[in-house]
Amino acid sequence: MTRRFVLAFTLAALTLGQSPALDAQTDAITIRAPRMIDGRGGERADVMVTVKEGKIRVLGPAAGPATYDLTGLTLLPGFIDTHVHIGWHFDANGRYATGPEPADQAVLYAAENAWVTMMAGFTTIQSVGSPGDKALRDAINRGILPGPRLLSSLGQISNPKLTPNELRGLVRKFKADGADLVKIFASASIRDGGVPTLSQAQLDAVCGEAKAQGLRSMVHAHAPEAMMRAARAGCTVVEHGGLANAEALALLAEKGVWFDPNIGLVTQNYLENRAKFLGIGNYTDEGFASMEKALGLKDAMFSAALKTKNLKMVMGTDAVAGAHGQNMREIIERVKSGQAPMDAIRSLTSLAAESMNLHHEIGAIQPGHNADLVAVEGNPLTDITALQRVRFVMRGGTVYKYEKP
Ligand SMILES: [Zn+2]
Repeated sequence: MTRRFVLAFTLAALTLGQSPALDAQTDAITIRAPRMIDGRGGERADVMVTVKEGKIRVLGPAAGPATYDLTGLTLLPGFIDTHVHIGWHFDANGRYATGPEPADQAVLYAAENAWVTMMAGFTTIQSVGSPGDKALRDAINRGILPGPRLLSSLGQISNPKLTPNELRGLVRKFKADGADLVKIFASASIRDGGVPTLSQAQLDAVCGEAKAQGLRSMVHAHAPEAMMRAARAGCTVVEHGGLANAEALALLAEKGVWFDPNIGLVTQNYLENRAKFLGIGNYTDEGFASMEKALGLKDAMFSAALKTKNLKMVMGTDAVAGAHGQNMREIIERVKSGQAPMDAIRSLTSLAAESMNLHHEIGAIQPGHNADLVAVEGNPLTDITALQRVRFVMRGGTVYKYEKP
């Protein structure tokens, strides 16, 4: 709300030909922290970060008083979740809302999801995606409605009956509509066995056209063959990999394709909220049995992924209805399953930024980057659950949360 007043005041001051509000807006903010994790694998004690006009300007040793003294906290770059469904919610009857519902109601649920996600420290998220994401994304970008920076595919490409030419046309349509990336289903859901649904020629067409249009391509794939087709097609990132084997993981690494395993939140959330989904679409008793089975396979799949040389792993949760704001459970589970805390934190910050081609703006604490900063209580390198104790959230230089420990 602060920013709204600043903007209103700025407009008033401009009208009067004065500039006190402009000065207020451009004043530097200093943040002092006893510990900093920079997002790129570095750690530093006693730092002072100077923020001005929404950017990090100076990173230096702690000296003198600061606007925000984060004693007891660890400062990190704002967190990034590369795979959410920001509009998914439960309706007034506590059931998964599959619509149709009034558009104004739908977008307000999405705005609530965006808010709780940012309060959990996530200053950038990627929704993959629905047409309704666009209004929310553009509203947040106007700078009044608080929320994480939002990117969206604005929909999904899943129809296996389309020819390569028709698929290319669809990619161009998403580009024209303003999508930030394309989301493709190359296998069935794990509830339906995860088998490949798109041919090599179809995936070549979609990911090739996406590249030609300057869009990234995200591929939902469970079966190893579906993962390998995505890798051969030069798609940007493969999601899930519930049935992955060593051969498929090695091919992703060889082709430089990112992998997002989603082991810690999405399936657990479905099982915890079973009654709210059961009976809708493929959320059947058989579907839930498949998910329970898949949950058992995920840790083994993740261990194999950790052992795969040069495999680039990125943070994404696949957060659906009920899961928004709990995104960090994914990282907690990855560390419990054997990933080094610093590697998990890199996947949550600089690597996530790199996978979205935003690494020059976000994902690290360094001068020139957006002032997206989070502080947590404790030291996540020794206790990863500290990442769930978010006490400070700044996005683009505006502080949205500050609770002294
Ligand atoms: Zn998803």
